[in-house]
Order: sequence, then C-alpha cells, then structure tokens
Amino acid sequence: MRKLIDCHIHTQRCGHAEGTVEEYVAEAVSKGLWGIAITEHLALPEDMDPERHLSMPPSEVNAYLDEVQAARERVDDLRVVTGVEADYLIGRENEIAAAIARARTGAHGATVVLGSVHFIDRWAFDNPHEVEEWERRDVDDAWRDYFALWMEAVSSELFDVMAHVDLVKKFGHFPTFDAREIYEAAATAAASAGVVIEVSTAGLRKPVGELYPGPDLLSAFRLAGVPATVGSDAHAPAEVGYALDTAYDALRLAGYDSIVFPESPGHWKELSL
Ligand code: ZN
Ligand code: FE
Ligand code: FE
Ligand code: ZN
Repeated sequence: MRKLIDCHIHTQRCGHAEGTVEEYVAEAVSKGLWGIAITEHLALPEDMDPERHLSMPPSEVNAYLDEVQAARERVDDLRVVTGVEADYLIGRENEIAAAIARARTGAHGATVVLGSVHFIDRWAFDNPHEVEEWERRDVDDAWRDYFALWMEAVSSELFDVMAHVDLVKKFGHFPTFDAREIYEAAATAAASAGVVIEVSTAGLRKPVGELYPGPDLLSAFRLAGVPATVGSDAHAPAEVGYALDTAYDALRLAGYDSIVFPESPGHWKELSL
C-alpha cells in the first residue's frame, strides 16, 4: 500500500491560510497519512510584506517552531516534520540565508526548507490580488524571467526542495515557445544542485487545473535523476492530503518508482510508489 505524504502545509500564522497546527495534524491522522511536513511561509523582509498577509511575522517564528515540535511529540501514528517555505528574492540572498539559518537553528529547528519563486521583480505574479498585472505583461517574458529566477534559486544552495516548480502557469498562462528547452535546463540545474523537487497538487485547485510540475517537466526531472517529494500546499485543514493519488500516479507515469520524505536534517527516507 502507498504511504501517503504531504510535505507542504500552511497555518493561520501566515495571514492568508486558516487552521492551527493541531487541526492540520488531526486532519492528516483522520485521512490516514503516513507523514507530513508543516511548512509555514518564513517571514519575508518587512518591505516585501508590510501588512503581513504573505508570511508569518518574524516575532512568531520561534513560537511556530515550538508549536510544530509539540504536535510532533503528541502524535504516534503520524510522522510530523518541521519545515518552512522560503521565498527566493534575487539580490537579497544574505537576508534570506540569515532567516533560514535562524529557522534551522535550535532543538526545534526546521528539518526541511522549501524554496519558492513567488516574485518577478516585486510582482507577486501568483497572488490573486495582482492577477490584473498579467494583462500588462508579455507571457513569454514572464516565463523566461520566472525560470531565470528559478535557476538562480536552485543554485543558491538555500533550499532543500523546490516547491510548485512551474508556478508561473497558475492562472493558465503558457508561452508561445516550446518550453521543453527550459525544462531540460531546469532539470540539469536541479540535478547538479542536489535539490529535491515537489510534485504539488495545488495546481489542480487553481485555474491551470494541473499538477505542478506538468508531465513534460516532471519527465525531465526524472531523466536527470532528481528526487521528488509530494505536497498539497494546504491553506486550510480540509486541503491536507489533497489528490495525493493523482500526484503518485503522475510520478509513476513519469518513470519514478519512489519518492522521498525529509526524515531529519539532510536525510531523506525513500518510499516506494
Ligand atoms: Zn501561502
Ligand atoms: Fe508558495
Ligand atoms: Fe506554500
Ligand atoms: Zn506555496
């Protein structure tokens, strides 16, 4: 039987999700999941999130880490891993590195750090509040800019897992050029950086209506030998474990026979599909 994992989960602390750690854990237990990682949005620099509706406030990071640790100690039949999702912001690698280092430190520190590109320059291109900007942008340019940033993020050595790899397609925008060239470069970069990629079921709930990454990109990662994990990017307890079978089936179809789960810092447990 498949061991079901969900390695991308948010909580109410980030200001745009609902539910407590406890509620997410209870939901995962009730759905019979094998393991989860709670991965709240790590505090963005103040100027990028002045109203704190994109990421948890810096003052809450320690309380968050303690809260996940407490949940992990409370449950027996579910593996609960502490994680964070961190943004890649070009030119601000030192600030990001410092925030990640703080989150990783200490007895309750984060085991896994997801890396995400949510901003092209200062445009939060995946934010529903900034979706009109897509009408002013050239989609081909947005794709090229996104993946250029993604390549920088991968080689920055800041992140363990690259989350929702082709997030740029969220609202259904696809380039006019053949993206396979970009996909091959992305897969090569991921393989040489030694990162894990996430298969995210969040895209199934968005206008694009497909997994991140899509089948061609997932196959490119498989060919390059890049390990994969799975996440729902839950922003409400009911979304925990969302459509995991769809993700597992897509992984099988792309040629994967196993996925990885972050057992302890730097150590991955392989689970057969
Ligand atoms: Zn979020
Ligand atoms: Fe994200
Ligand atoms: Fe997320
Ligand atoms: Zn996310």
